[in-house]
Amino acid sequence: MNEYLKFKSTSDNTVYIKKRILKDISKFLCEDNLFLEAGGMIYGYITKSKKSFYFEKVTYPIETDIREYSKFVRSIEHFNFYNGKVEDEEITYLGEWHTHPCSAFLSSEDIKSHKILAKKNETEINGVFALILGVDSSIHLSFFTSNKKIIEFEKMKN
Ligand SMILES: [Zn+2]
Repeated sequence: MNEYLKFKSTSDNTVYIKKRILKDISKFLCEDNLFLEAGGMIYGYITKSKKSFYFEKVTYPIETDIREYSKFVRSIEHFNFYNGKVEDEEITYLGEWHTHPCSAFLSSEDIKSHKILAKKNETEINGVFALILGVDSSIHLSFFTSNKKIIEFEKMKN
């Protein structure tokens, strides 16, 4: 199990994030001195009990995404580019990741954009995960339900 970082919510859901993913994402944090945000989609699987989630794969920024200081907007082309390439019978869309030039927290823009995505995601999880990585190595994980609730997760000592 130590290839994963474990997160728990107060509602007793568990998320396992593959350490490899965090390592790959963190490369975008120090890519340049401009601290342009990066982001993409998260794919993984859900256990039968629907209590645990495994983050297995992520997508990476493409040219049409908007990458600025303190701003990342995933383009429609991003979804189209990766659509059908990442999923298989087990692996499904679970949410979004992005980086921050400061620490990892939900900004008001993040809350707005994830609420819109959560409303649209009518898959079996009824919402989206938001994963944020800060340049100071902080990690934020929360789940936006399609009925506008935000469930926060906390990192566990494995
Ligand atoms: Zn953000």
